[in-house]
Amino acid sequence: MNTDLSKTDPARMHAPDQHLVDVVLAYVTERLALTEAPIDGFGDRDEMQQALEGLIGSEPKDPVAVLSIYEKYLSETVLSADSPRFFGFIPAAPTKAALLFDMVVSAASLQGCSWLEAAGAVMAENQALRTMADIAEMPQGASGTFVSGGSAGNLSALVVARDTARAKRIVSGQPLYQLQVVVSDQAHSSIKNALNIVDMGAIVIPTTHGRMTRENLVQGLAHQDLSNVVAIVATAGTTNAGIIDQLDAAADIAESQGWWFHVDGAYGGAGMLDPGKRHLYTGIERVDSLVMDPHKWWFAPFDSAALIYKDPHLAKGVHTQDASYLNVIHSSELTEFNPSDLAYHLTRRARGMALWFSLAVNGLDAYRDAVVAGNEMARYAADQIKAHPDVELVREPDLSVVLLRRNGWTAVNYDQWSTDLLERQVAFVTSSIWQGETVGRLVFLHPGTTTAMVDDVLAALN
Ligand SMILES: *Cc1c(COP(=O)(O)O)cnc(C)c1O
Repeated sequence: MNTDLSKTDPARMHAPDQHLVDVVLAYVTERLALTEAPIDGFGDRDEMQQALEGLIGSEPKDPVAVLSIYEKYLSETVLSADSPRFFGFIPAAPTKAALLFDMVVSAASLQGCSWLEAAGAVMAENQALRTMADIAEMPQGASGTFVSGGSAGNLSALVVARDTARAKRIVSGQPLYQLQVVVSDQAHSSIKNALNIVDMGAIVIPTTHGRMTRENLVQGLAHQDLSNVVAIVATAGTTNAGIIDQLDAAADIAESQGWWFHVDGAYGGAGMLDPGKRHLYTGIERVDSLVMDPHKWWFAPFDSAALIYKDPHLAKGVHTQDASYLNVIHSSELTEFNPSDLAYHLTRRARGMALWFSLAVNGLDAYRDAVVAGNEMARYAADQIKAHPDVELVREPDLSVVLLRRNGWTAVNYDQWSTDLLERQVAFVTSSIWQGETVGRLVFLHPGTTTAMVDDVLAALN
C-alpha cells in the first residue's frame, strides 16, 4: 500500500504503487518464462470457499497475500488451455508477443469503440482484420471488428443477414413470416443459439460424412419451401471433427438464391494459412460475413473473434446504436467505420491489438509454420492410431482434429482415460460423439506439442 496517501484519500487506489507493480509483474514474468504451462486440474469448491472467506472486506489486504491465495487455491483449478498437452475441446496457444501486448491493452486502458475516441486502436485492429481478409481473398472494402468470441460473431452476422433481408422484403412488399437459415447438421451450437435469439428458423441439411457438400445441399433443399430462407451458414472447420464444408457450393446456392452467405471459421479459418490445405477453402472469398477466432488457431489470448463483412455498410445500418449522447461519434466525416457499429456491442476492449502486435512482430511465415505444425501433428497421431492394434482412426483428419475409436470401449472407459491422463498431468483429453458413438478426440493447436506427448496419450489407450 502506498503510505504517502492518507487512509481516507479517495484517490488512494489510483496512486502509483511500485510495490504492487513489482509483485504482479514478478508473477507475470514467471508465467511468461514457462516453456510449458502445467495442465493443472479441477477445483474443490469447499477448499476454495475456505481460502476466500473474508478476503473482501472494508479494509485493504496485503497484495502479496491475495496473490498467493490466487496462486495456491485458484490458479491451479483453471485448466491451462495453452499447455501443449491440452488436446481437449479447442485449445489455445497465445504467442508471447500477443500475451505481452494484451498487458499493454490493459495497462493503457485501450478501448476500441469509435474512430473519434480510439483512432490508433481502430487503425491497428483494421490492419489485422485486413490481413485476415487478404488471406481469405475477400474483396477490398471488406472490414469488420473484433468481438468476444465466435458465438458473438455468429450472432452479430446473422442479425445483419436477417435485417438486410427484411429490409429488401419490406421494399418489395413481401410478407414477413419467420425467416429461415440453411445450416448443416454439424453447425456449431452457437449457430442454433443465435437463430433462437434472432427468432429465425433452420433448414438443417443432413450430411453424409460430416461435410456439407453440393450434393447434400441440393438434396436437402429439394422439395422444401425456400420462400422464407435468407441465409446459408457453412463451417470452415467443424469443432467436432475439423471438417470444411464445400464452401463454393454453398456460395453458388447463396448467390443464385440471393441469400446471405456466412462462414463460421471460428476454429478452422486459420487452416487457410497452411498452403497444403488452402484449396479446401475455395469459395470462402465469396462470403458476406466470416468469423475466425484469434483466441483459437490465430494464437491470440482470450477473448477475441474476428468478424469480417464483405460490405460493412450493411452491418453499420443494422448495429449502429442511436442515442443522443452518441451523435458525436457518428457525425464527423468518417473514413473508417466505428467498431461499435459493426456488431452487437458498444464499449469494447481493443481486443484485436494483441493479434495485431503479434502478427507484426512474428510475421506471417511464423503463423503459417505454427498452423502447419498442428496439421502435421494430427497426421502423426492419425498414422500412429492406424498402426495401433486396438485403436481405429474414425476418419482421416482434414485439419488438426483427430477422432479415434478404442475397440471395446464405452463412454466410461474414455472418461477414465481422460481422468487418468489429467491426474498424471500427461495431457488433457476429452471424448466426443461421432455419428452416435462415443469416441476419443484430440485437437492439436499448440506448435510446442511433441510426438512424445502424443505417444504418451496413445499409450494410455490400453
Ligand atoms: C469455438 C467455435 C464457436 C464458438 O466460438 P466462441 O469463441 O467459443 O464463442 C463457433 N463456431 C465454431 C466452429 C467453433 O469452433
